[in-house]
Amino acid sequence: MTSNGLDLAFDREHIWHPYSSMTQPATIWPVVGAKGVRLQLEDGRELIDGMASWWCAVHGYNHPVLNAAVTEQLQSMSHVMFGGLTHEPAIELAKRLVALTPEGLDKVFIADSGSVSVEVAIKMAIQYQHARGKPSKNRLLALERGYHGDTLGAMSLCDPKRGMHHLFAGILPQQFFAPAPHTRFTDEWNPADIEPLRAQLAENYEQIAALILEPIVQGAGGMRFYHPEYLRQARALCDEFDVLLIADEIATGFGRTGKLFACEYADISPDIMCVGKAITGGYMTLAATLTTRHVAETISQGEAGCFMHGPTFMGNPLACRVACASLDLLLSSDWQAQVQRIETELERGLAPARAFAAVADVRVLGAIGVVELHEPVNMKVLQPACVERGIWVRPFGNNVYVMPPFIMNNEDLATLTGAIVEVIQTTC
Ligand SMILES: *Cc1c(COP(=O)(O)O)cnc(C)c1O
Repeated sequence: MTSNGLDLAFDREHIWHPYSSMTQPATIWPVVGAKGVRLQLEDGRELIDGMASWWCAVHGYNHPVLNAAVTEQLQSMSHVMFGGLTHEPAIELAKRLVALTPEGLDKVFIADSGSVSVEVAIKMAIQYQHARGKPSKNRLLALERGYHGDTLGAMSLCDPKRGMHHLFAGILPQQFFAPAPHTRFTDEWNPADIEPLRAQLAENYEQIAALILEPIVQGAGGMRFYHPEYLRQARALCDEFDVLLIADEIATGFGRTGKLFACEYADISPDIMCVGKAITGGYMTLAATLTTRHVAETISQGEAGCFMHGPTFMGNPLACRVACASLDLLLSSDWQAQVQRIETELERGLAPARAFAAVADVRVLGAIGVVELHEPVNMKVLQPACVERGIWVRPFGNNVYVMPPFIMNNEDLATLTGAIVEVIQTTC
């Protein structure tokens, strides 16, 4: 027991944490509260949060407007089934999503998590092709270094080497893969970069329902920022080869890269788009899959006569209500200036790490900062060292990265980046 009575021994013995071991549990820190950009640990320490709880808490924690939205919604209903019923929070959320997302995406499926929204996107693409009399187009094309979630369908689309596909060989759907885009966001476009994707489509388009990619930023699969021209040409190739384009904006959506959606960097609209993570400002689990009238109508006129998906907690009113409040808060703020400011401060603060022998690259885009090391990060050393310096980051693979809440001020950003640079210098 800790001083507050938190039973950490029980936690260690009985509770799975993300990607955790039950025999060699990693250190975990008990948190008792969160406010603004700070996590409050049980021992009284406060940590500046560089992760926004995995891209989500863009407005910071314990926000009065979002608290009020949840409290108000509780007075009428926290949940009702969505089959045969509808309600204002869902309608209001869908209105906002249709208005904000790239042109043409006007049919909304409300899902309960990012991975589920990816499963929904996969099923939409396959049902669409089936309804068009092309049942052989039932596989997906994805990019190496991609990440699309942890459920089986979503996992089958993650980087095939780093995604542990061999463990699940035989039961994971077999997808096609193209190499990750090479040309960096800031480099001059190299026209050869798109050729492997073209070759893969040319060879296999008769079996491919859709290409799925994370626009501009490949997140958990490597934190790589690629050139908008790749995305533009990928869109054109999908049209040329009669393949749908699925944009997974779960991490990039709602301003994180400096645009409301990363697709805007290439001025393209996908046929299907997944959003999640920041949609509720980190309050509740919620995601959505949007598609076009054409795809939706084709699916609806197919053999099943409907789209075959409907989770128990679909359209949860509490989550939809807080999502509406979070989107309104975002749009009424000067989020573009905030993200721009964070970009400048992250660039300034992380730049000294470029000089270290252990560091392969430092890159910043919007409110995302990445220090890539030559070797995988030793989490057992690095994470406690960060906590000691009053910051919360969770490195992954070779990357120490941050995507802070948009409300983080320059002083906290300087503390955050300064501590990261120091920890890398002294431990890597
Ligand atoms: C996090 C993430 C997902 C999965 O979302 P969950 O809510 O964790 O299921 C899918 N795609 C991308 C790009 C993500 O960053």
